[in-house]
Amino acid sequence: MKKFTLASAIILLAACSGTSPEMQVVRGAAEAMGGAARIQSIKSLSVEGEGLASNLGQNRMPDDELPTWKVTGFKRSMDFENGRMRVRQTRTVQFLFAGASEQRLDQGIDGDVAYNIAESGMASRAGDAVTKDRRLEMLHHPVAVLRAAMDPKAKIENLRKDENGERVDVTTANGDLVTLAVDSGTRLPLRVTSMTYNANLGDAAIETTFSDYETVNGLKVPTHFVTKIDKYPQFDFRANRTVIDSNSGDLAAPADAKGSIPLPAAVTVTAEEVGKGIWWLAGSGNHRSILFEFDDHLVLFEAPLNELRTKAVIDTARTLCPEKPLTHVIVSHHHFDHSGGLRVAVAEGLTVITQRANVEFFKELVARKHSIVQDALARTPKPLKIEAVDEEMTLKDRAMEVRLYHLRDNPREGTNLFAYVPRDRMLVQADLYDSTWLRHPWGDNLPFNLTLHKLQVEKDVPVHGAIQTYQDVLKTIASKKTSAN
Ligand SMILES: [Zn+2]
Repeated sequence: MKKFTLASAIILLAACSGTSPEMQVVRGAAEAMGGAARIQSIKSLSVEGEGLASNLGQNRMPDDELPTWKVTGFKRSMDFENGRMRVRQTRTVQFLFAGASEQRLDQGIDGDVAYNIAESGMASRAGDAVTKDRRLEMLHHPVAVLRAAMDPKAKIENLRKDENGERVDVTTANGDLVTLAVDSGTRLPLRVTSMTYNANLGDAAIETTFSDYETVNGLKVPTHFVTKIDKYPQFDFRANRTVIDSNSGDLAAPADAKGSIPLPAAVTVTAEEVGKGIWWLAGSGNHRSILFEFDDHLVLFEAPLNELRTKAVIDTARTLCPEKPLTHVIVSHHHFDHSGGLRVAVAEGLTVITQRANVEFFKELVARKHSIVQDALARTPKPLKIEAVDEEMTLKDRAMEVRLYHLRDNPREGTNLFAYVPRDRMLVQADLYDSTWLRHPWGDNLPFNLTLHKLQVEKDVPVHGAIQTYQDVLKTIASKKTSAN
């Protein structure tokens, strides 16, 4: 990036003053914060503070509030001259959780290299989509977006006005597009909006609203940042310290993250026959599906994770009994890691069976726009065929009987369907129990539900974890009900 000089400031001022109404909005915001030249001269900035981060796609019901992580030790350091940012934080669960209750995240970007540093200290390079998202994330601060907007190579277009203020689109020198909104009264930046792609939500706006400005070294900076993705809260952050142009440490990508972008891990699907006409489709990862063979058709339990996983599972299912069509998929619940394959399942022509409380949400997921990445359903649109289960449903013919039950009174699962095969006394479930969990805070809910329906379970064939006898399941739950990680 070009070094700032007085000459370039004068050129910039000359270029700005006589120009478009769009540029006047940008300049007005810069003046309100402390002056265009002042903002242009800033080389680095960091914010530190605390907040609440939402756990997207993990609420009890599709319209419930999202569970949250308390974020402490948050520090976002930006080096504008070199296009570098690093974000460090500690997240502590504020909801019932079976994994590690505290997680440390350390993520950064250095030019075109986005990287993550694991708690072990191991650095790894992230892919192109993450790189783009982080470059955009860097613009979600008034100083960063105004600096980028005043770059002579940036384009400022499309002025709109409403009762709260004015908005312009900024295309940065890098070609990244954000919308900047400026308050009509104070002229201070109100919010920045950019687009991202989310496998479940498709095209989604990420919007950060700035408020509670205070003055640091003669510059007005916000101390309250509220970020949403689409309609969902993502991060509510309060800065208790903003540092301008002090040495914020080395933000260069670690050497071991500078290699080529690693290829995504291969998706593999194994098929293990766990009962006559019942296959456990495992392989890579910890999201499995179960295939049931009926007299003249096949039914899949779970379309998990994403298009890649679910398409591989569907393809495998079709090779196991090629003479019978795969017609239905039971989607156990709406959590994003369990409904991530919904759209490809619809594109493959499957009828979705799910608990009634998921129906409207699934209709919305199927109808959403996926243009940033064209997924299978965007490429080959199909209508959603859906069958809702209220409390129970039995799928039965002369070859197979599968009973479906709505999970009752679970603290984190409001829309969950589990399956029971009476012939084999087999339980098929997602998120009721996982043999790999650190603890089982809702472990009692599983025997409660089985007792409710007088089900005699001998074997658990799960979406997550290992196949176990029900005796072993109960033993594990009893030993790890509350044990800390
Ligand atoms: Zn799960």
